[in-house]
Amino acid sequence: MAKGKILIIEDEVSLARFVELELTFEGYEVTVAHDGREGFDAFEKQKYDLLLLDLMLPGMDGMEICRRIRKISNIPIIILTAKDEISDKVAGLDSGASDYITKPFAIEELLARMRAAMRKVQTFDIKLNSLTFKDMVIDTDKRMVHIAGEAVELTKKEYELLLYLVKNKNIVLTREQIFNKVWGYDYLGETNVVDVYIRYLRAKIDERFGKRYIFTARGVGYYVSDEK
Ligand code: CA
Repeated sequence: MAKGKILIIEDEVSLARFVELELTFEGYEVTVAHDGREGFDAFEKQKYDLLLLDLMLPGMDGMEICRRIRKISNIPIIILTAKDEISDKVAGLDSGASDYITKPFAIEELLARMRAAMRKVQTFDIKLNSLTFKDMVIDTDKRMVHIAGEAVELTKKEYELLLYLVKNKNIVLTREQIFNKVWGYDYLGETNVVDVYIRYLRAKIDERFGKRYIFTARGVGYYVSDEK
């Protein structure tokens, strides 16, 4: 059984061929494209487990491919680059790559990084679908919240507020951060809407279940915490 499907987009034919042979030998199923646009088309046609992506490519450059893919997929992307300047690495990671490796590289190192990148995305996937905090489970697919096995009915904004707090647990979020994240910059109401919704959430969660989930950082904002 194949270990995973890998797409290589690399215009250096001999390098692409070398990596293809090594990965095939390791048990991966490999597709190769030597042109950026061709590579992007190949990506759209099939589901892959990992992408090895060169930056300087004919057709469409690697950064652009990365940005486009990130709009539709969380596939791990490892950038293969001849450029070793820090700015290129940073730009690559900013455009959504999971990791990068500078050419020339040892195949063992590439294999290790591939395994790490694929492991990360698996745990990320699990977390994407459900978040747990104390005895609270948030199902982000169904947008449902359970505490101690009991369903908690929340409005859309209450849910978004709670999700934002839980995703950043143990971090104090300012009223402004919360406001911008949950209501957005174009909301014309007052920022005290944050305090109002925190009160709603506390009534439905802390008060109902007789525990403290949401804490106040006086004069700053709010946070959820593992503390009792
Ligand atoms: Ca190239």
